Amino acid sequence: MTEAIIIDGKTFSSNLRNKIAEDVKSLKKEQGIVPGLAVVLVGENPASQIYVRKKEEMTKAVGMHSVSHHVKADISQQALLDLIDTLNRDPVIHGILVQLPLPKHIDTPTILAAIDPAKDVDGFHIINAGLLAIGKPALVPCTPAGCMMLLKDTLGNLQGKSALVIGRSTIVGRPMAQLLLAADCTVTIAHRYTSNLEALCRQADIVVAAVGIPHFVKGTWIKPGAVIIDVGINRIPAQDPEAKAAGKTKIVGDVDFEEAAKVASAITPVPGGVGPMTIACLLNNTIQAARALSDSTAPS
Ligand code: NAP
Repeated sequence: MTEAIIIDGKTFSSNLRNKIAEDVKSLKKEQGIVPGLAVVLVGENPASQIYVRKKEEMTKAVGMHSVSHHVKADISQQALLDLIDTLNRDPVIHGILVQLPLPKHIDTPTILAAIDPAKDVDGFHIINAGLLAIGKPALVPCTPAGCMMLLKDTLGNLQGKSALVIGRSTIVGRPMAQLLLAADCTVTIAHRYTSNLEALCRQADIVVAAVGIPHFVKGTWIKPGAVIIDVGINRIPAQDPEAKAAGKTKIVGDVDFEEAAKVASAITPVPGGVGPMTIACLLNNTIQAARALSDSTAPS
């Protein structure tokens, strides 16, 4: 029997996008600014194409200006840097997102470092990562920003909670840990060399799983009443024998949802939990960047 509250990221994301649409209207009316997001897609990666299309649709849906640059996989690094430079200088663009992964001949850190930190709506620039690490306002990576919104909505004040983040990637685990620390949690970061993971998990009031292994976190690892945020998106063969034989797949998280939901007080489902928050947080970062850029260029 499922007892935990199911954290509804889909509804939360939809409400957030409605609020962003209102904010976009006000910004236009009061300051004549339409936030603009430029997305750069290199090559034909099918998953990236789907993500980029979704981002474009949602950007337009909230009334923002959306620009897409789909460039060939064999673009030179210099040509890509030139495109970013043009976008950095473009006054109608407030956010720049380069869809990852990039082709092998392009050095991803060099490209990310070329984006104006004030327009870095993915929050991957070293300046934004550094600001976050020292507890200063920054453009924060979208997925952990979305996890924090769901956690604050579920728990209210996070102060004094013991939080375990499983995973230390620069896009999820590390910034997630920094955000939890900024919210006065006591934070543990686990990775593949962590030896006592189950025991650490049993002590945690909050578990954020960003591992990329289906059903990695078991129900027996969960402290009764803990809040579980499952970031994982893993495709596995469908359970139903007929669907499996037909080659069908399903998406599951990094947490064994059925087991964990019997012990936790609240848990995000996969799909429908963290996933829908990411693009909403991208739009949130874009409006934040537009406001900050307009403040910085306003006559004093
Ligand atoms: P990643 O870069 O592959 O990082 C995975 C992390 O898990 C690494 O830090 C790794 O440790 C750790 N890990 C691997 N095996 C482990 C083990 N046995 N015990 C403990 N830690 C272990 O992945 P990511 O980009 O952070 O993404 C994680 C998951 O979130 C994936 O399923 C991804 O698809 C999903 N995701 C979802 C969204 C969303 O919008 N919902 C966004 C981004 C990612 P080491 O550092 O030691 O290798």
